[in-house]
Amino acid sequence: MRMYLLLVFIILGVVPLSFFSFVLLNTFEEKAINNRISAIQSQGNVLSNKFNTSVYLTTGEDTEVEEEVTRLSDIYSGRIVIVNSNLKVIKDTYSLEEGKYLIAEDVIKCLSGGDNTPVNDKKTHYLRLIYPITHNESKEIMGAIIMNFSTKDIQSIRDSMERRVVLYALTLAILIFVFAFYFSGILTKPLTSVVNSIDRMTDGYNMEEGISIKGYNEIEKISDSFNHMINRMQKLENSRQEFVSNVSHELKTPITSIKVLADSLLMQEDTPVELYREFLLDITEEIERENKIINDLLSLVKLDKTAGDMHITAMNINELLEQILKRLTPIAKKQNIDIIYESFRPVIAEVDEVKLSLAISNLIENAIKYNIVDGWVRVSLNADHKYFFIKISDSGIGIPEEAQDSIFERFYRVDKARSRETGGTGLGLAITKNVIQMHRGAIKVYSKEGEGSTFNVRIPLNYIV
Ligand code: ADP
Repeated sequence: MRMYLLLVFIILGVVPLSFFSFVLLNTFEEKAINNRISAIQSQGNVLSNKFNTSVYLTTGEDTEVEEEVTRLSDIYSGRIVIVNSNLKVIKDTYSLEEGKYLIAEDVIKCLSGGDNTPVNDKKTHYLRLIYPITHNESKEIMGAIIMNFSTKDIQSIRDSMERRVVLYALTLAILIFVFAFYFSGILTKPLTSVVNSIDRMTDGYNMEEGISIKGYNEIEKISDSFNHMINRMQKLENSRQEFVSNVSHELKTPITSIKVLADSLLMQEDTPVELYREFLLDITEEIERENKIINDLLSLVKLDKTAGDMHITAMNINELLEQILKRLTPIAKKQNIDIIYESFRPVIAEVDEVKLSLAISNLIENAIKYNIVDGWVRVSLNADHKYFFIKISDSGIGIPEEAQDSIFERFYRVDKARSRETGGTGLGLAITKNVIQMHRGAIKVYSKEGEGSTFNVRIPLNYIV
């Protein structure tokens, strides 16, 4: 990541810099040469006009023209050759070709009225211009001015500029590199610390420590989500540990009681039959309790394992509720708890009968278990075009607000002693929630401590695969 950022910074900084330097230098050179060409061309024009009124082209004698030619060649440090229409060299500022004939393709072309664009030879740094000498009136081409000028001065300015630009670019590149190194470090530091924290936690040190990063929004969010996840994992781990100790404790308690009961029977001689019966009844109760815990555990494991294994049939939900209530009424009667059933309409829905019965039974059993003597439990059934709703309210002890989020967790019990007393395993609501979710439904709890609780269940009428 850091290397990547570094590379991006450098590419973003150095590439445009080099590009602009290159473009700048070339533009300068082009512009300087064009300026030179137009200056020479205008001088050539003046010179060519002078030839109109002079006999120089025929006689080769006119000091004014001669001086002008020499001056021009001096100014631009170049060579000027003048030929007449017969290609005879009238004047050569280098005095090499005078009197000779200059037979060059471009000169002939120029004399015959052809194209005379300047040639810039980049290799030798020479500029060659051929300018026709035209008669003002007859427009006849009387000769040509051939000018060769060096562009080395421009080149040397360009070279010194280039050296300077390279120097600046290098300094800037170093600055960009230092800046990029520093900032990529700052940007990746929080990520590195996230990684380090994760590594530390993976190694098993300090799960509670979490990650704390401030400053960068996105990374802050990552660390928050991560902490959230760790918290959940921590909770799961705690609940798993609690589960293991709970299960062993729960499973051991009935066995210990059974052993105590059996031992005391064995130790007594001539035990009356009534006492035998009484003790055996107690033993049966303990066995039932053991059985319940094992069954609850098994149904939970089974639900987890066979999440997709639903036996869906169209069920009359009114009948299903009535059956459950019929089975639970005797238990409620023991505490003198009234069970009220309200059905607003007949409801037929696609459900897994066994699983849903288990889920709803758990809710009603809880409403009875965590109730007061002479209390009430109200079960109501309603539906709209999409869902059916089961509402289970009770007049019981209620659930403290801080516990309401946790009651659906496995083995969570608000009051462990009371739950055990009433045969609770802490698994009931976990099973219920699981089943409702498998039906693509939802469950919500509203409760006030000391006043009672209401569980609202919502399940689609048609099973959604
Ligand atoms: P348990 O086997 O202990 O009843 P559940 O999973 O069914 O386990 O319930 C979890 C805990 O939620 C219970 O121990 C109890 O503290 C609380 N609880 C559940 N239903 C009710 C209710 N209707 N009124 C008050 N407390 C409830």
